[in-house]
Amino acid sequence: MSVTMSEPITEYANYIGGAHTPAHSGLMLDMANPATGQIWARIPRSDAADIDRAVAAASAAAVGWSRLDAKVRAGHIRALAEMTRAHIRELADLETLDTGRVIKETLYGHLPTCVEILHFFAGAADKLHGETVNVGHASFNFTRREPLGVVGLVLPWNSPMSLIAAKAGAALAAGNTIVVKPAEQACCSILRWTQLFEEAGFPEGVINVVTGLGEEAGRALVRHPGVARISFTGSTETARLIMAEAAGTLKQLHFELGGKSPNIVFADADLDAATLGVTRTGVFTANAGQSCIAGSRILVQRPVFEEMVERIRGVAGELVVGDPFDEGSDIGAIVSPEQLARVSGYLKLGRDDDRLELLFGGRTTPELFAAESPFGGGWFVEPTLFRATGNDSRLASEEIFGPVAVIVPFDDEAEAVAIANGTDYGLAAGVWTSDLKRAHRMIRDLDAGNVWVNAYPRIHWALPFGGMKDSGFGKDSGWESVLENTRIKTAWIDLA
Ligand code: NAD
Repeated sequence: MSVTMSEPITEYANYIGGAHTPAHSGLMLDMANPATGQIWARIPRSDAADIDRAVAAASAAAVGWSRLDAKVRAGHIRALAEMTRAHIRELADLETLDTGRVIKETLYGHLPTCVEILHFFAGAADKLHGETVNVGHASFNFTRREPLGVVGLVLPWNSPMSLIAAKAGAALAAGNTIVVKPAEQACCSILRWTQLFEEAGFPEGVINVVTGLGEEAGRALVRHPGVARISFTGSTETARLIMAEAAGTLKQLHFELGGKSPNIVFADADLDAATLGVTRTGVFTANAGQSCIAGSRILVQRPVFEEMVERIRGVAGELVVGDPFDEGSDIGAIVSPEQLARVSGYLKLGRDDDRLELLFGGRTTPELFAAESPFGGGWFVEPTLFRATGNDSRLASEEIFGPVAVIVPFDDEAEAVAIANGTDYGLAAGVWTSDLKRAHRMIRDLDAGNVWVNAYPRIHWALPFGGMKDSGFGKDSGWESVLENTRIKTAWIDLA
């Protein structure tokens, strides 16, 4: 696929109760290709009435789905995994068109991973069980794990397919039906995916997907009395709104939120590995740093600080920013003009702040691609590094969601931990050291839901993933995520 194609605009539909339907209002939203700015698709702009229909369909399907033999439920999830495998190329193309993430990552990374995620959760479906609890001879006591009913999934734009695979996989395996509200900026891969559900054998109403704006469709889902749980991935700011909106119906909430993750390099580290881990896979990523786990604070011990600055500059200079469909590109586009404006605002803040020094980068689309280039209408930012002395600037403490990092020196372990923990977030942290005892102490002392040692990042469907502090609570992936999609009922049978 080429980003410069001029093909007719594709119109996508919601998926409600097994039918592909437009928004009842008939309204649609334009979808732009982040690399060119060209409109290439339209999605339904749904509202509360569409959400009502989707929740009604999910509620109607809930009892039947929960009572299906677990291995039958698993079979449908497995079938969907295989259908996804058969459509990897098409779905990866759509994911790249949607998000601007480079094709080599969607095609060889994210989409194949979705297949594995779905197989993992299919395998979990028949493993759920309660416990017997011994409280004495006069009674028999046990717990039952039951599905919650209808679970609402609210997704961000940066990794639509892997996030829906993990959230839907866990909810469905536990016997729930779902209503998904993907991000309005990136949801066409998901809407195309809904066309596979029927072939995978899912009964009508088990999976429903409704697109639209956060304050319309998203808000309606979160407020809906028929929804038992909201699993949300997105910004901390939106999570606060959702928590307030959900109070009226006392829903269970699961929040995967933002981050400002420290990637900490000690002087005893393998600096070749650390250099790659703080650059290519840390913050100058395939999706231009638009990652909740971006290692956007690079902390480096003083004896190797200047050397690391030069190493990082060297790698950043080799990275190709550009056409997401070119397998030679390393860094793709920023998802929307609004997000580009946000990142550009931080670049200006950084330049204007006396506590910071721009070490390299800082250019955006108009400087990177001339107006007449195929990408002149797109939204790009080059890898950018600022030197900082701590967390005291906005650039060093707020989530930017772009390929922009600060590099901060530290003297010893205690100072590294103090700087690392000195933000409101707590999603992830990287530690680069050859000292095993230090590695264990850092894992113990860092306030982060995920700590990676001599690697950055590492996410696996079998491992629980989630944050602390303002990065949220609850888990995606792993057995924990299946358990969180259940409720526990305690039973007492009197034997006396
Ligand atoms: P966002 O919070 O703006 O939007 C996320 C979703 O919430 C979208 O579907 C949006 O339509 C919906 N929404 C917005 N307002 C709503 C409301 N009032 N009620 C209900 N739903 C509403 O986030 P985003 O800009 O799409 O994504 C970027 C953010 O997501 C970043 O902060 C990033 O760190 C975070 N993120 C976290 C993870 C993680 O796993 N921790 C993964 C990816 C992204």
